[in-house]
This record gives sequence, structure tokens and C-alpha cells, in this order.
Amino acid sequence: MVVAAGATAVLTVDLDALAANYRTLRAHLATEAECAAVVKADGYGLGAAETAARLSREGCKTFFVASLDEGIDLRAALPAPEIYVFLGPESDTVAEFEANRLTPVLNRPDQIALWRRRGRESGKPVPAAIQLDTGMSRLGLAEPETVAIAAETDWRDGLDLRLVMSHLACADDPDDAMNGTQQQDFDRLRALLGPAAASLANSAGVLLGSDYHYDMVRPGIALYGGNPLIHGTNIFGQVVQIQSKIVQVRQIDSPRTVGYGATHRARGPSRIATVPVGYADGYLRSLGNRGMVSIGGVAVPVVGRVSMDLITVDVTALPEPETRPGIIVDLLGNGIDLDDLAAAAGTIAYELLTRWGPRMKRDYRGIAS
Ligand SMILES: *Cc1c(COP(=O)(O)O)cnc(C)c1O
Repeated sequence: MVVAAGATAVLTVDLDALAANYRTLRAHLATEAECAAVVKADGYGLGAAETAARLSREGCKTFFVASLDEGIDLRAALPAPEIYVFLGPESDTVAEFEANRLTPVLNRPDQIALWRRRGRESGKPVPAAIQLDTGMSRLGLAEPETVAIAAETDWRDGLDLRLVMSHLACADDPDDAMNGTQQQDFDRLRALLGPAAASLANSAGVLLGSDYHYDMVRPGIALYGGNPLIHGTNIFGQVVQIQSKIVQVRQIDSPRTVGYGATHRARGPSRIATVPVGYADGYLRSLGNRGMVSIGGVAVPVVGRVSMDLITVDVTALPEPETRPGIIVDLLGNGIDLDDLAAAAGTIAYELLTRWGPRMKRDYRGIAS
């Protein structure tokens, strides 16, 4: 790969690896369960239109996004699939949901009333999902709200209830007792609403086993190569690679500090290479003195603080001819693992993926759609 002349770094998305991860997820499901895909936050930073187009090719028919605007953008790219929007309609967005054929996830009693009014007025039931809160205390109906709604005999009039869903809080740890508690609460609460397709599992939930799969699963991070589990090896393949190149090398002969705050001190003879990627590109500032990059397959440490546009790496261990300006530097991939880098930054793969900035050129590899 050649880093384009004007760009400081290139983020390459391997669409074939994405497709392979989708197939790995599907292989965990009984054939009845549908494998949807979550492409919120622009496909976890990798491009919602591009990732969804490739997943459609693999047979994925249902996508989830977070916001109405994300839904509108995805609809413009893909006319066919069902697109659910986690944040359902408000009084000023009902028309846009309809115009773009977006299926809202209804999270509040008043939202259910607002949306189904549309269905009753037009005489054509409107498609919807309902979210039940089983432990996140974030979005969705609380238990008393679910009970109250179910008590209204005509509450489903005007609604084409396609899915009842909830979200797991602790699925990344299969041993956590909360998984089973949420699953039982989900069964108890959704029974109040009558027959409807059900969905509970995110990526980690898929790995919890068939009790969690219901009619549809909603993986995100596993598609993009992150490990859904906090322990154990990652069964999903790496999708993202980020490459930049050395722009300068400083030979240090007597002790001298590196970067803002002089937080790193080169004690003996050393060579420090500068790479034009910084926190403005999503190379998190917390990676200062903690991150690793790879040059020619050899991991070398980030030394000093991360600047807005630059990092400095200690290349003393590498032969001088391999560390000249123009030499490729791997920031992710080729030995730099997504979850390891996120951990070094004190965060998770989800945050690292969604932070890569617009200054990085996006490149797509593999069959597109
Ligand atoms: C983000 C999200 C998912 C996907 O979760 P992953 O852990 O990335 O697989 C599924 N469901 C809901 C409600 C979400 O917000």
C-alpha cells in the first residue's frame, strides 16, 4: 500500500474480512435466526454505506443505525433493506421517518402513541420495533410502562410490530449473572406485549449461545474485527488497517527530551522518528508513552506525548536504513491489534474505531457490493 501523496495516513477497510466476520456470526446461529448488522456511527467509523453494501451482498437484510440522519443517509445508499433507527420519532420527525421508509425503535409510551397515530390515520399500520429496558436504564420501556401499555386493549392498533428488543449490559462477560437475569426479564416482559419477533443479542450476545438469539441478532463490533469478549482470543478477523509514513528522524547523541511537557527523555544514543498522525486524527492522546506502532513488522513504542498532528516513536532498535523518511508505519494492523491498542489507550475498540478522523484517507479493499 502506498500512502497517497497529500494524505498523512490511509485507513483501509477490508470488505472481504468484514464479510467473513458476518459469516462467522451467522455460523453461530440456528438457521431461523436472522443476522442483522449495526452500522451506527457511520459503520463504527468505517463507512456505513460501504460496509452495509457489502453486508447486503452477503445476504444481510436488516440494518440498525442510531439516528434519523444516519437512517436517511443509509436509505440513500441502499433502497432495499429494512433500516431500524434506535432513536425513534419525535413530533417533528415523523414525516421524515415515513418518507425514508425507516422503521423506528419506539422507546417511550408517548413515542408509541405518536407513531401509531400515524398508522391509524392512514389506515395502514406503520412498522415499528419496541424496546424494553431490562437493565440498561437508558432507552426503552420500563416494566411499569410495559404493563400499562399492555393493559390498553387497542394498543397495537395502527402498529405493525415487527420486533420487540432489549439490550444486554454485561454480555462481554459470559460468566456474569446479569445475562441470565436480563434474558428472563425479557421473556417475561415481552410476553405481555403478545406475539412479535424478538431480538436481544449484540455481538457478545451471539456468543452467549442460542438462548440469546431469538428471531434476530444485532451484532456491531464483531463485524468490524473487535473482540466482543473481555477475556479469550478473538475469533473475528481484523478489518481495519492504518498506515502512515515517517516524515523525519532525529538522531539523539546526548540526553534530550521528546515532545510536549518533556515527558520522555532519551538517555543514551537513540533515534526518534516522527509520524504525521495525532489526536486530531483519532490517535488518542492517552496513547502518549503507551502506544505501539509497527515498522516492517517490528513493534516500536510511541514516546512522548501525542500532539495534534504528530507522534514520535523510538526506532533505535531498528537498522537505520529501515527508518528513513518515507518508510511505511503501521498504526493498526500488521502486528498492532485493535483491542490491544484500545487497551493501551485506556479505552475499548468501539471508541478507538469511531474516532479516526476525516484527515485519514479511506480506502476499501475487496469486493464492494
Ligand atoms: C450498538 C448496539 C448494538 C451492537 O453492539 P455490539 O456490541 O457492537 O455488537 C446492538 N444493539 C444496540 C441497542 C446497540 O446500541
